[in-house]
Amino acid sequence: MNCIFCKIVEGSIPSTKVYEDSKLLAFNDINPRTPVHVIIIPKEHIISAAELTEDHAALIGHLWTTVPKIAAQLGVSDSFRVLTNSGENSGQTIFHLHFHLQSP
Ligand code: 5GP
Ligand code: ZN
Repeated sequence: MNCIFCKIVEGSIPSTKVYEDSKLLAFNDINPRTPVHVIIIPKEHIISAAELTEDHAALIGHLWTTVPKIAAQLGVSDSFRVLTNSGENSGQTIFHLHFHLQSP
């Protein structure tokens, strides 16, 4: 599949991983806009938040409950934001669901 984030999951595009389990991967953004800027993705290729259904409930619950663990690991538990862009006009440039985890 011609998807940068799927290629990062496969390992054919390198990344600096900060967290990985069977369902999720988190890695440093290549162009960080804040001191900590990590991209969290489900390994499954889902285009965007607009494509989510009840079938993804466990996966997304798992992703969100992993957020505080990654934030703690990166030392930003005190203050962070999580954001997902959905659709080109929102600023989405990679069409594989991802969440930006950023320090202020
Ligand atoms: P979006 O604009 O789709 O919400 O966010 C995509 C993010 O992926 C951007 O912040 C961009 O810097 C990051 N990005 C794009 N290509 C790569 C890449 O090859 N490696 C990494 N680590 N991040 C990337
Ligand atoms: Zn993908």
